[in-house]
Amino acid sequence: MSSKPISYPLMEKIVALSRRRGFVFQSSEIYDGINAVYDYGPMGVELKRNVKNLWWQDMITSRENVLGMDTAIMMHPKVWEASGHVNNFHDPMIECKKCKRRYRIDHLPEDSKNCPECGGKLAESKQFNLMFKTKLGSTDESALDVYLRPETAQGIFVNFNNIVSSNRVKLPFGIGQLGKAFRNEITTGNFIFRTREFEQMEMEFFIRPGENAQWLEYWLQERLNWYKSLGINPEKLRLRPHTKDELAHYSIACYDIEYEFPYGFSELEGIADRGTFDLTQHIEYSKKKLQYVDQENRGAKIIPAIIETSAGVDRTVLTIMTDAYWEDEENDRIVMRFSPKVAPFKVAIFPLFKKEGMPEVARKLYNDLRKHVAAIYDDGGSIGKRYRRQDEIGTPFCLTVDHESLEDKCVTLRDRDTLKQERVPIDKVVSLIIEKVNL
Ligand code: ATP
Repeated sequence: MSSKPISYPLMEKIVALSRRRGFVFQSSEIYDGINAVYDYGPMGVELKRNVKNLWWQDMITSRENVLGMDTAIMMHPKVWEASGHVNNFHDPMIECKKCKRRYRIDHLPEDSKNCPECGGKLAESKQFNLMFKTKLGSTDESALDVYLRPETAQGIFVNFNNIVSSNRVKLPFGIGQLGKAFRNEITTGNFIFRTREFEQMEMEFFIRPGENAQWLEYWLQERLNWYKSLGINPEKLRLRPHTKDELAHYSIACYDIEYEFPYGFSELEGIADRGTFDLTQHIEYSKKKLQYVDQENRGAKIIPAIIETSAGVDRTVLTIMTDAYWEDEENDRIVMRFSPKVAPFKVAIFPLFKKEGMPEVARKLYNDLRKHVAAIYDDGGSIGKRYRRQDEIGTPFCLTVDHESLEDKCVTLRDRDTLKQERVPIDKVVSLIIEKVNL
């Protein structure tokens, strides 16, 4: 469902706004682009960074029993044999004999015989491995075949002993990381929903076997609440349990957190009970003991079970943008109604004119504000145009310095969503904006 070509009006509007306002661009656009790879512009990178920081804050910094890591993209090839990716990380693919387009079978209507694009005959289906292979090393003889990681999780599993021996961790505890992952997806589309290079935010929570159900339930609620805390409409979010035949090879139970995009409900995050599969596999392949000495159970040596939360940064960004897009017909404007927490910029400062002391007052305010929050200074064009621009990039607050400001030492604060304006004393502006942004 999620890789139909972009033909939904709302998606097209978001793609256009992304380009117009510097959120997301097609990669290598001057060379006609490269399929399913994107670059984040100045607005997009701020939004994305906010998502990552909020995840890190919620999952790592604010929790006593979850630690962070940052592991390498390239890993020993054996990792992917042990994990099952070499043998199992396939999608069933089918090719059109006529136009050579490729499709994922589960993205075509059941029993399709013909190409949905050109009507040509479809060939027999094949299994297609999604990992990108490359060579590590300078000479052909010594070069090692390595893969670009298709998920960040394995970097955590293979470091289990390093974490346990270098930190005072006690079960249950988690290890989280965020970083790039790569998949040679067969079908792509829907903008940054399914790309070949993307970022994940993953956390592996190690528990005593037997406590799986209670921790799975705990993380389902925690993760759902996180999406709500980003200001996403809760009515468009849902939890969907995987059916038995949908479960990945490692998984005992799995739920997806889904958002209702214009093209239907689609996955933002997978939360899985992986049992002891991962550590057991790496014990077998590496011949190392990956175990935990349970002092609370008379020093018993156990292999912990794992509950995983696996989210996509880019899909979260797309969700936030889709959810925030608003055509305010009454006021003839397009508004990205971002929650102040995720908005690329929190406040914009406008001097009404470029003369009579206004720029000096506005610049001082701008410099004071940006010590605390991401702020923009804009003195170009009419005030109306300046407001439109900030609305489209979702800046929640605008401050205008006018003639009166020089007399009454106040500025006009305009609220993006309600359009309400109020006069605020200049010496109270910084604390007021900080308070509003952190609400
Ligand atoms: P899908 O069924 O949509 O291909 P998946 O079940 O293979 O996704 P997981 O392996 O569970 O995805 O990956 C965890 C998360 O990583 C996903 O929920 C998603 O947010 C993100 N993700 C996975 N593949 C991609 C991709 N190609 N582009 C962007 N994000 C992705």
